[in-house]
Amino acid sequence: MSPYPQLFQALRTGPFTLKNRIVMGSMHTRLETEPDGSARAAAFYAERARGGVALIITGGYSPDAAGLLEADSGALDQPDKLAEHRVVADAVHAEGGRICLQILHAGRYAKHDALVGASEIPSPINRRKPRALATAEVEQTVASFATCAALAREAGYDGVEIMGSEGYLISQFTALRTNNRSDKYGGTLENRLRFPLDIVRATRARVGADFLILFRMSALDLVEGGLNAEETLHFARALETAGVDVLDTGIGWHEARVPTIGYMVPRAAWRAATARIKSAVSIPVMATNRINTPGLAEELLEQGVADLVSLARPLLADAAFALKAEQGRADEINTCIACNQACLDFLFRDKVASCLVNPRACHETSYPKVRALRAKRVAVVGAGAAGLSCAITAFERGHSVTLYEAQGEIGGQLNLAKQVPGKEFAETLRYFRTRLAHSSIGLKIGHRAGADELARSGYDAVVLASGVSPRLPDIPGVTHPKVLRYDEVLSGSKVPGARVAIIGAGGIGFDVAEFLSASHGAAATPEFLEAWGVDPQGMGDGGLVPPKPEQSARSIVMLQRKSTPPGKSLGATTGWALRMELARRGILVLTGVTYQRIDDAGLHILHEGQPKLLEVDHVVVCAGQEPVNALRAELAARGIDATLIGGAERAEEIDALRAMEQGMRLAYAM
Ligand code: NAP
Ligand code: SF4
Repeated sequence: MSPYPQLFQALRTGPFTLKNRIVMGSMHTRLETEPDGSARAAAFYAERARGGVALIITGGYSPDAAGLLEADSGALDQPDKLAEHRVVADAVHAEGGRICLQILHAGRYAKHDALVGASEIPSPINRRKPRALATAEVEQTVASFATCAALAREAGYDGVEIMGSEGYLISQFTALRTNNRSDKYGGTLENRLRFPLDIVRATRARVGADFLILFRMSALDLVEGGLNAEETLHFARALETAGVDVLDTGIGWHEARVPTIGYMVPRAAWRAATARIKSAVSIPVMATNRINTPGLAEELLEQGVADLVSLARPLLADAAFALKAEQGRADEINTCIACNQACLDFLFRDKVASCLVNPRACHETSYPKVRALRAKRVAVVGAGAAGLSCAITAFERGHSVTLYEAQGEIGGQLNLAKQVPGKEFAETLRYFRTRLAHSSIGLKIGHRAGADELARSGYDAVVLASGVSPRLPDIPGVTHPKVLRYDEVLSGSKVPGARVAIIGAGGIGFDVAEFLSASHGAAATPEFLEAWGVDPQGMGDGGLVPPKPEQSARSIVMLQRKSTPPGKSLGATTGWALRMELARRGILVLTGVTYQRIDDAGLHILHEGQPKLLEVDHVVVCAGQEPVNALRAELAARGIDATLIGGAERAEEIDALRAMEQGMRLAYAM
C-alpha cells in the first residue's frame, strides 16, 4: 500500500475518473515561442505523464489576439493551430495521462499594445493602459472562450481550465478595483460575476457534458478593491451551478504586494482560503501554492482542505514526483525549493522556463536520458552544487565516477545557503545524498584530492568543481577581530553582536541580513500572514488587513560602493519581497559608500561626501568570492587538462543555478 493513501485514491471528476489526486498545475514555459516548441512541449509533458500525475494542465493559451500575454504568446483561436496542440495531447495520452488546456486572457496584464480590460484602469505592474471592452466585445470574448474550448476538444485535450484568478481579465471583471463599468458587466457583485459565469455556461454549451471544465478562481485576491471571503464563496457556488466540474484555486493577483509562492512563504500557507471554498461547494476543489512534498499533500487531503493538489513547480523539479511517492520513495524526490530562479525569473527575462534543481526541465529533447557512447572513468573534485550535478548526471550516463570532497560532508556553499530562513537547500542535499547512496559513485568525503593522486589514477576526464572562497576586501583593518566572514556567520561558528554592518549588498549580503534579523528562523504561517497583512479569515477587502509591525532585534546597516539600487542581483520574483521585509524590520541600506577603515570604534566610511563612523559590534563581509582552482595548474604540469566548472571556473555571479546547469551540461558533453 502507498504511504499516502489519500493521495493515491481515485477521484471521479465530471466525465471521468482521475487515477490519483495529483494534478500538474498550469505553468508558463515559453516553449510555444521556440521553433521546435510543440515537440519540446510534447516531450516535457509526456515525461510528467509517465511520472504518474493524474492530470496535466498546460500553460495558458489565449482565446483571442487581445488576450495574448505577449505578442508571441500562444493562442488557440483558429483551426490552423490544432496540429501543434494535437502533438502535445497525443504524447500525454500515449503515456496514459490526461491533459487539459488552460484558457487565459491576460486583460490589462498583456505586454502588447492591443491590450483590453474591464475598464480603462491601468495595472501598477504594466505601463500600458488597457482599452475598456464595449458590451458587445465582452459578449464576443465570452464566445471566444467557448470556441477555444471547442478547439481544445478537437485537438484531443480532455478538458479546459478557465483561468479566473491572479488578476487576469476575469479577475479584472469581478473586482471593483478594476471594474467601474455601468453596463450589465459592472456595478453589483451579480453583474461583475456575469462575465465568468457567462463564459462557463457558453463553454459547457459548446463542449457538452463529457468534457472536463476546471475553473481557477481567486481564493484570495490580496489587493485592495478585491473580493472578500463572503463574495468569494458566493462566486464559488455560482461557478458550481454554472457547470464547472473542478474548482482550482489561485492566490493573489500578480500586482499583490504579498509574496504568494516564493521561498519566504511557508509551505501550504494558503490552506485556510482553500478550505473555505471546499466547505462552500460539493464539486472537487484543488489546493495550490507551496505544496512540495507528498506528506504535505496527503495532510491537506486528510484534513479535508481539498480533494486534489495542484503541483506546478514541484513537477518541473521532478517529473516522477507521483511515482516516487506512490512507491514509497519520497526521499528520492528532487524537491522544488520555491526559489523561482529558473522558472518564473527566467520567464520575466523572456527565457524558456527551467528549474534550478533540475536543469533538464523544458530541455528534455536536448538532454535525452540515454547513455554515453563510450563509458569513461571520471574524477569530479568538489561535491558542491556543480560537482554533485556533474557527478550524478555523468553516472546516469554510464560513466564510472569518483567524487572527491575535502570537507566532511557534501554540499559546499549549499550548506551555508540552507541556513537562510525559508531556503530549502536541505531538501536538495537530502536528494543528492539519496542519489549518491543508490549509485556506485566512488565517494571520497573528507579527502582532498591531490594532483599526484589524480594523475596516478589515470582518469579519462578530471572535472574541477572546487568552488570559491569568500573575498576579503582591501580595507585597512579588515583583519580586526570585529570582522567576520559570511561563511562564519551563516555556519553559526561566529555570532555577531547587536549592532552589525554588512559590507556588500548582493545576494549573500541580503541573505545574511535576513538570517540576522529574522527573530526565529523561517516564519510559520500565522506570523507570515500577520507580517504581510493577510486576514486569516479573508474578511477584509481582498483578504487584507494592516500588517503587524516588525522590528529586527539587531540594528543592521548594509553597504555597497555602487550608487545603483541595492539588491539588483536578487531574483525578479522574490527580490522585491525580501527588500520589503528587510525595510519593514528597519534594516538600513547605504549606497555609494567608500570604506575607509575598521577599528575598535567600528566601520569608518565616506557617505554623500561626509565621513561617518558606524559604531558596530561586528562587520560582516559579504563582498563576493574568489575561485579556488590552483589544482588546475598542478594537473596541467602533469599533462592533465582538467575542466573547471561552477565557482572554480568563474566566481563572479556564481550561484547554485549556474553551477548545477553547468555540471549537467558538462556531463552530457562527456
Ligand atoms: P554579489 O551579488 O555579486 O555581491 C557582492 C557584493 O559585494 C556587492 O554588493 C558588491 O558591491 C560588493 N563587493 C564586491 N567587491 C567588493 C570589494 N572588493 N570590496 C567591497 N565590496 C565589494 O555576490 P554575492 O552576494 O557573493 O552572491 C554570489 C552570487 O550568488 C551572486 O550571483 C548572487 O546574485 C547569488 N545569490 C543570489 C541570491 C538571491 O537571489 N536571493 C542569494 C544569494 C546569492 P559594491 O561593489 O557596489 O561594493
Ligand atoms: Fe522550484 Fe526553483 Fe525549480 Fe522553480 S527553479 S521549479 S522554484 S526549484
